[in-house]
Amino acid sequence: MRAVLVINSGSSSFKYQLIDSDSEQVLASGLVERIGDENSGITHTVEGTKHRRELEIADHTAGFAAMMDAFSEFGPSLQDDPPTVVGHRVVHGGQRFFEPTIITDLVKINIEDLSELAPLHNPGGLQGINAAQQQFPDIPHVAVFDTAFHQTIPAAAYTYAIDRAVAERHRVRKYGFHGTSHQFVSGAAATFLERPLADLRQIVFHLGNGASVTAIDGGKSVETSMGMTPIPGLVMGTRSGDVDPGVLLHLMRHARMDVDDIDNLLNKRSGVLGLSGHTDMRDLSDAIDAGDDKAREAFDVYIHRLRLYLGAYASVLGGVDVIVFTAGVGENSDVVRAAVLEKAGFLGVRIDPERNAVRSHDARRISTDDSAIDVLVVPTNEELEIARQAVAAIS
Ligand code: AMP
Repeated sequence: MRAVLVINSGSSSFKYQLIDSDSEQVLASGLVERIGDENSGITHTVEGTKHRRELEIADHTAGFAAMMDAFSEFGPSLQDDPPTVVGHRVVHGGQRFFEPTIITDLVKINIEDLSELAPLHNPGGLQGINAAQQQFPDIPHVAVFDTAFHQTIPAAAYTYAIDRAVAERHRVRKYGFHGTSHQFVSGAAATFLERPLADLRQIVFHLGNGASVTAIDGGKSVETSMGMTPIPGLVMGTRSGDVDPGVLLHLMRHARMDVDDIDNLLNKRSGVLGLSGHTDMRDLSDAIDAGDDKAREAFDVYIHRLRLYLGAYASVLGGVDVIVFTAGVGENSDVVRAAVLEKAGFLGVRIDPERNAVRSHDARRISTDDSAIDVLVVPTNEELEIARQAVAAIS
């Protein structure tokens, strides 16, 4: 058996999965959380049973030691049967990393340098890499970048129309995120339809707490809604999505907001939360049912933005063969899916309400058999995609 350990590190937590790369089964998974906090702990899940341990975890190195102990105690033992490769999610690969990359000291220097573009994400990823390398010094470690899938976006789409010299000096351009998810889901959609990926023009809506939409032509990303940072595009749980940049100048001039205030506003106090007081789409739905006008308005803003991007991306692709919904909201909310496509009949989209209402963990079609565009729900699996890419990188 060839097992892959997949690590998704944040600044104060990391998720892990041990995946059998032959059967693609998850052998164990877990979460080390609140690193450096007094309430730190680990949850390790194996064979459907969750094991929780509260213990002091001062840093990522201690977190990996706790993970190793959990594997020893609850199985499967990594001491007896170490993974063949460790795959790490890294958020920002800038213009340097186009594909999964075996991690060397030079690669780490580059990831650190790219922290300027992803200050909230790359430093945590690097801490996870360092701690995992200490734990598994003799095993290859592979970085899989969120931005890499979007490296095929053409210059006409990734270029912001600002002074070229300023943009080049500060690496300002669209990079795009959620690439691992968009890549996995578009591939799985082609498999589901039993059609070659190369023949399909797809629009993939990744609607989770973070949200982005990507236009994918023949398996290649050609346009995506996030930009240099994960702020623009769709309305998200707490992030604003698109805002007139002049608004920020206005707030800096007249509301005396500084850089940190604006950062906090756009990342943490905006989106569905900023408009309604709720972050979770389920809570928003409950509030709408209870007659809350602000919640209704937040939903309308959320849906309007999705419709805008659907039309824009259909035009960028010159037509659409498949529309795919994925992630927490996309996989679970038939109401959101129906609302996004309510006016898409002119494109030839026909939704089957019964199919749309089905709840399942499997890929499924929600359009009618005579719909001109196939509309699918495809559960995302970023960890599996990272495992596949890590194995491919060392093969
Ligand atoms: P993710 O970031 O992909 O884990 O998605 C998380 C989000 O999915 C949550 O904030 C919820 O808004 C949404 N979500 C999860 N389950 C449901 C559900 N049954 N109905 C509507 N939204 C859901």
